[in-house]
Amino acid sequence: MALISSTEMLQVARRGKFAVAAFNVHTLEMLQAVVEAAVELESPLIIQSTVGTVKHLGPDYIAHAAKTAADRTNLPIALHLDHCTDFPTIIQCIRAGYTSVMIDASMFPFEENVERTCKVMEIARASGVNVEAELGKVGGVEDNIVVDEHHASLADPEECARFVELTGVPTLAPAIGTAHGIYKGRPNIDFDRIKRIADAVSVPLVLHGGSGVPAEQIHQAVALGMAKVNIATELRIAFSDAIKDVFTGHPEENDPRKYMVPAKEAVKQLAMEKMRLCGCPGKASILR
Ligand SMILES: [Zn+2]
Repeated sequence: MALISSTEMLQVARRGKFAVAAFNVHTLEMLQAVVEAAVELESPLIIQSTVGTVKHLGPDYIAHAAKTAADRTNLPIALHLDHCTDFPTIIQCIRAGYTSVMIDASMFPFEENVERTCKVMEIARASGVNVEAELGKVGGVEDNIVVDEHHASLADPEECARFVELTGVPTLAPAIGTAHGIYKGRPNIDFDRIKRIADAVSVPLVLHGGSGVPAEQIHQAVALGMAKVNIATELRIAFSDAIKDVFTGHPEENDPRKYMVPAKEAVKQLAMEKMRLCGCPGKASILR
């Protein structure tokens, strides 16, 4: 299948009370690994890259690899640009073939966030691309976006409703207590807030900072309306640790076709575990 927009996929997920796992990939092997995981579990999939990875690899390289992967399967797969703050990169990615983009204007006051999101909505609507926006500020570090604890703030349910109404944005990432990176303790998720936001807006909600969130918290968040769960850091660690293991045992190894094999497998296994947590295995058929 060709890459598809994630709008409908996520609406179906929210109605069906499951979430689509969205994985940040940085190499061809990581991309192949998450696709293989989706194939094995008959799962819909969102492949995503941050702006840093777009700059590192080139949006066309990423889009072509994702298109090739999607064409080889009969699964609904979307390619998403994660946490983008600038319009030129968004346009570049849509031109390259991304089917979903996030405009992160959460660092601006409400009105400016609305304005910037509306601008991206205009661009995206013309090309049938999904748009995700953020309200409140998710803490932690994502690429070059750093939000310390004091500046992280949770999304207000009434503002969420007003934001969706004013922008028409089809997917919303409200800050509800998760953070990017690795948690020091148990994440302090405000489930009551998720419920109030889900009651206030009917669009699918996105859980950022999904790495390291315990299984029961993911289940609870998904049951309340989170229809997309982002996993980045954990995947990167699994990939890198597997490569480190190879070199610890075999410091003479110099063939990427060998040391990438366990790294790819580690990513695939972790992706499958996260898909099971999200409840998306077997859901590809209802989206075809
Ligand atoms: Zn995020």
